Amino acid sequence: MRVGVPKEIKNHEYRVGLTPPSVAELVAAGHEVIVETKAGSGIDFEDDDYVAAGARIVGTPAEVFAQSDMIVKVKEPQASEIALLEPRHLLFTYLHLAADKPQAEGLMKSGATCIAYETVTAPNGGLPLLKPMSEVAGRMSVQVGAHYLEKEQGGRGILLGGVPGVAPAKVAILGGGISGINAAQMAVGMRADVTIYDINMSRLAELDMFFSSQIKTAYASRAAIASAVKNAHLVIGAVLVPGAAAPKLVTREMVKTMKRGAVMVDIAIDQGGCFETSHATTHQDPVFEVDGVIHYCVANMPGAVARTSAFALNNATLPFALKLANLGAEAAMAADPHLANGLNVYKGKIAFQAVADDLGLPF
Ligand code: NAD
Repeated sequence: MRVGVPKEIKNHEYRVGLTPPSVAELVAAGHEVIVETKAGSGIDFEDDDYVAAGARIVGTPAEVFAQSDMIVKVKEPQASEIALLEPRHLLFTYLHLAADKPQAEGLMKSGATCIAYETVTAPNGGLPLLKPMSEVAGRMSVQVGAHYLEKEQGGRGILLGGVPGVAPAKVAILGGGISGINAAQMAVGMRADVTIYDINMSRLAELDMFFSSQIKTAYASRAAIASAVKNAHLVIGAVLVPGAAAPKLVTREMVKTMKRGAVMVDIAIDQGGCFETSHATTHQDPVFEVDGVIHYCVANMPGAVARTSAFALNNATLPFALKLANLGAEAAMAADPHLANGLNVYKGKIAFQAVADDLGLPF
């Protein structure tokens, strides 16, 4: 199959659909890979690296689309990219269609087969192509939290791990799923005093076994959260109710009780945020203050560590990209129902029930 990789054109997106090592895997499997010039230059994958991996470089997105059967990207296609899609194309990327009717209608009109990373499933449940980004965001949340706790950043002037003779910072992690456990691993590594709050008791039991005495766990009742927030130096919001807006676990009243210069990182901001005081921010202007408490609410945290994120994403997507290239879309989906769950648009129609319902479009 001919596999195309355009340069991402969304603002400040430096990740790339295929890294040079992924290109080499596809080429070794007998496929042709066409990469737009400078597609990975933002994260130091130069055209020469792609050529060494076996790719052919072309100058424009139009050439990539015209010369490829499958397009592998990171972000949802922008209008100029949708205009290049034809019925013969297979598009494999994040789509997030449920909140984007113009994109959904554009993809329907294109006639292309569109498989969304975010709805591909795993045999044990879970969403394997979202997982690496939750891992990145979880780990990063502690890094940014530690940064904004510094006095120069407006923070309380607290070192997460303390020092001998001075107590470490208290870190409250709300939600102990993928991003929560990754946040906890970083916070424990920095020797903070960590408590994870969740409503899923079997998950709390797993976390308790995994971390042993390195963390505390607590049921996420309103009272427990109110007390946690009041005493914490760093609060990390990492909850998810699949398919729904994040529950507002921390109220405005609770924020008023917090220490001045404490930091809140709302990872769940892409689902509306789990603090009542949150609103989405960007990497250009990542924080704001409410009642003396710093809020970090960047909706695409992995973008800040685009090189790590591109490798992490490729580790998860490559097996599926190979399957699609080896078998073709129909046969690959027939052979793997979890990949088939990724199908969002097919032959001019929405092919994912929840997306059709949310957008009021025919299924
Ligand atoms: P996950 O499903 O692995 O974990 C969510 C956890 O929240 C679960 O353990 C669940 O039991 C718990 N939970 C649900 N309701 C709760 C409640 N009322 N109180 C306490 N705990 C509750 O989800 P995840 O992969 O860790 O993702 C978490 C959020 O981070 C999602 O909204 C995801 O989209 C988001 N995310 C954001 C970024 C970013 O850049 N901001 C990046 C990746 C993921």
